[in-house]
Amino acid sequence: MSRLEQLPAQPAEEHFQIPQKGARDLANMLDGNGVKIDQVRLVKHDTQVHLVHAQMLVELKPDMTVSQRSGNQPSGKTMPTKEAVMADAAAQSKTLVADDNVQREIGEVIDKKPGKSFGEKPFRFKLAAAHQEYSVVDKCLKCNGATTNPCGTCNASGHAPCTGCAGQGATQCAVCYGTGQQQRADGSRVPCMKCSGSGRGVCMTCQGMKTLRCVVCNGQGRTSCTECDRSGHWTYIYDTHWHCEAQFELDRKQTLPEVVEVLEHLGIQKTATEGHAEILRLVSEVEGDKLILPFIGLLPVSQVEFSVAGKSHPAVIAGLHGRIIEIEPLIDSLTKPGVSALVKLSKGPMAAAALVASACRFKMVRQVLAGLTHNSKSHVYQKLRREYQILVTDKFAKATIRYADLALLALAEGPRWKGLAAGSIAAGGLYAAYFMTPAREAVRGLMVQQQLEQHILAADFALWLLGWGLAVLGIKIFAAAALKKILPQNVQVKEHGLPSAGKQAWYALGTSGLVWLGVAFFATPRAEWLVNILRKFGLSL
Ligand SMILES: [Zn+2]
Ligand SMILES: [Zn+2]
Ligand SMILES: [Zn+2]
Ligand SMILES: [Zn+2]
Repeated sequence: MSRLEQLPAQPAEEHFQIPQKGARDLANMLDGNGVKIDQVRLVKHDTQVHLVHAQMLVELKPDMTVSQRSGNQPSGKTMPTKEAVMADAAAQSKTLVADDNVQREIGEVIDKKPGKSFGEKPFRFKLAAAHQEYSVVDKCLKCNGATTNPCGTCNASGHAPCTGCAGQGATQCAVCYGTGQQQRADGSRVPCMKCSGSGRGVCMTCQGMKTLRCVVCNGQGRTSCTECDRSGHWTYIYDTHWHCEAQFELDRKQTLPEVVEVLEHLGIQKTATEGHAEILRLVSEVEGDKLILPFIGLLPVSQVEFSVAGKSHPAVIAGLHGRIIEIEPLIDSLTKPGVSALVKLSKGPMAAAALVASACRFKMVRQVLAGLTHNSKSHVYQKLRREYQILVTDKFAKATIRYADLALLALAEGPRWKGLAAGSIAAGGLYAAYFMTPAREAVRGLMVQQQLEQHILAADFALWLLGWGLAVLGIKIFAAAALKKILPQNVQVKEHGLPSAGKQAWYALGTSGLVWLGVAFFATPRAEWLVNILRKFGLSL
């Protein structure tokens, strides 16, 4: 059965519904941004379902673990040499590729991954359906198959020098202790009767033979080989499993270049995992020593024409979710008046209420303003890109955020100065609570325990920074309270986080530093580093 014969006669109905999906998304994105939802209409559409050709190439590779046992005990397939084992395993890889169970298992693994592994990076997996045990029987390396080895104790001679006479065959006479004489009761000396006066006697251990039988080899001169357990052989077991190496390939020759372009826009893997295309995995084919699992993706692409507030806009919609992948960046032109109001607001306090009102007529501007009262600029940017995608240019999105930030700073300028004052006073309170109470001595006590006393200046500095943080917090809280009053109700969102502190944050570093120094100066006992500095300037107060 050819690949194309496996396709459904007709693509599913949902492929042809993507223009409507795209139109709905466009209407939602534009609604409130200079046009109303019912001013967005789908005028014309032409949908085609394109074929994406791709395949997964799977190759089998053997993995071996070798173990050995003594004796001639083969199991599995017996092979003459290790090289023969390797050659057979490699040959098996090719046969296994055509095996039904192996193919079924590979198919299951491929199908289990997100998007049926379409667009997946190269990966490998273990195959359970294939297993082979090989044996190679070899002569024992120690005895070379003889089952015995020369006795090391007797040097293979079978006998050893007698231990009783050190190989002499004779020992000192036990009666006369080697003197050759015996003393009689009357004190006279006579030659030893036992040894006839020689002082030596035949060794009782070897009966004068000078050698003894080797006890280790029992006189045989050879001992049983322990390496091979007296079998003369070793059996090597090659326990063999196979793993698969899978590699995805998009067939760029068979797939139309403009379709490849759409795929790359959507992301090749995401096309499958996010369900932009209907992915069909076809019957696998064997080609040489590889298994090929062909894919056909059905990807709908629609050329459409929208009417937005009476004006015509061509666009391209792709994928089953109806994503708009080509359109004029309509948000830019539609919301321009709102961003102009932000630019004017950022320049000063003139006509603030009216400018705020005209900026807030646009949903996107409201979203940016609301975002910035609680989050960082980059966070707001990410959110904007997700929400409006290609309907807004990168440049315009960034400009909107920049001017919205400046406008908010300008609007809350006064309150931020007040916040700076309040925050610096709070920092002063914190410093007093440290320098003018036993708190600092307690900290020093702890540092002495940890042998960090010399770093007390670092602790004092850390407190300055803590106070700075407190002052910045004061600025942000005052700014947030002011913005809550200035911005219209529909800009308020319930989120944690505070607006930015602007240049007042840097002023706060200075004011908190001055307050910190002042408090340290009036504290008793005065900090030693401050005393030292004052002394250097000739001021020992
Ligand atoms: Zn051996
Ligand atoms: Zn021996
Ligand atoms: Zn004697
Ligand atoms: Zn002896």
